[in-house]
Amino acid sequence: MKKIHNFSAGPCILPQEVFQKSSESIIDFKNSGLSLIEISHRSKDFVDVMEKARSLVKDILNIPSTHDVLFLQGGASLGFLMAAYNLMAENKTGGYLVTGAWAKKAAKEASFMGNSVIVGSSEDKNFNYIPKNLNIENNLDYLHVTSNNTIFGTQIKEFYNGNIPLACDMSSDIFSRKIDVSNFDLIYAGAQKNMGPAGTTLYIFNKKILGNSSVPIPTMLDLKTHFDKDSMFNTPPVFAVYASMLTLEWLKNNGGLNVIEKQNSKKANLLYNEIDRSSLFKGTANLEDRSTMNVTFTLENKDLNEHFNNMLANANINGLKGHRSVGGFRASMYNALPLESVEVLVDVMKNLETKKG
Ligand SMILES: *Cc1c(COP(=O)(O)O)cnc(C)c1O
Repeated sequence: MKKIHNFSAGPCILPQEVFQKSSESIIDFKNSGLSLIEISHRSKDFVDVMEKARSLVKDILNIPSTHDVLFLQGGASLGFLMAAYNLMAENKTGGYLVTGAWAKKAAKEASFMGNSVIVGSSEDKNFNYIPKNLNIENNLDYLHVTSNNTIFGTQIKEFYNGNIPLACDMSSDIFSRKIDVSNFDLIYAGAQKNMGPAGTTLYIFNKKILGNSSVPIPTMLDLKTHFDKDSMFNTPPVFAVYASMLTLEWLKNNGGLNVIEKQNSKKANLLYNEIDRSSLFKGTANLEDRSTMNVTFTLENKDLNEHFNNMLANANINGLKGHRSVGGFRASMYNALPLESVEVLVDVMKNLETKKG
């Protein structure tokens, strides 16, 4: 098979062994003569997978016993709605830090249930920074933030740590660094950015929020429904949960968050250093808010775009096209992307400068 350096923003690269093992499970799951996708989700074999996946999340993130973990469906986009439904208390008011397109969508969903208040926004500069001075009134039932802005390449380095319950869309940087889960009442993340294939969404929440909402919640959108049934209220996305479990196993076996956090910084530093050193490239995100997961940059001379794109293709580099709202390039460097792929990219950038700089 051709070796590709996959910088795709999502769905993203996963460890090769996860592709291997998960594909084997489709043909013959645990030597049972049956496929993972044809057995009952109530069978012991699958219940074990779900329990293992949930406990790996708790283990890797060092989740306190006040919190629990579910693997649901609907993507992070349904998470926007789930967050509002489950966290709206007396005031039916959520505060939103609008740091990108996803954050803005989250804020919009809250307005279906109650009030959605913008506590800070970086839209004035096309979301190239994280606002630091938030306008937080004490009538907020919760504060919603987006830890990593996948499209714009910014990342929150220090989370709000006050009295208001904190909710976070962590889709594109969960498991990339250590976090203090006790600081959050709700975390949710679509699997396909750093954990597994599309199809499942991880929810981590403080159990005290269950049943506390003041808005009537449809059954499927109530976290309590799923908590009461151990993440098996209805048929779970069995393949996505299994492949996520394998990725989490891989992460744990490779040293967990301590190791991956260092590896991710190393990859990010390598690329940012080249962007800053090169006469041709320019980073688009504010320095102190730069994401370690999604690195956004442009070529100052647009006439070189085509040439650079050809060089990338020749080096088997995939997925570097920037999002249309930012333009330029975006290198997404999720956990499974090896350092070697970043080295190949940096070499191509250096070669471009030698030829055209
Ligand atoms: C990709 C992404 C989403 C959307 O996820 P879906 O699972 O496709 O709904 C939401 N938030 C962030 C931060 C993302 O990166």
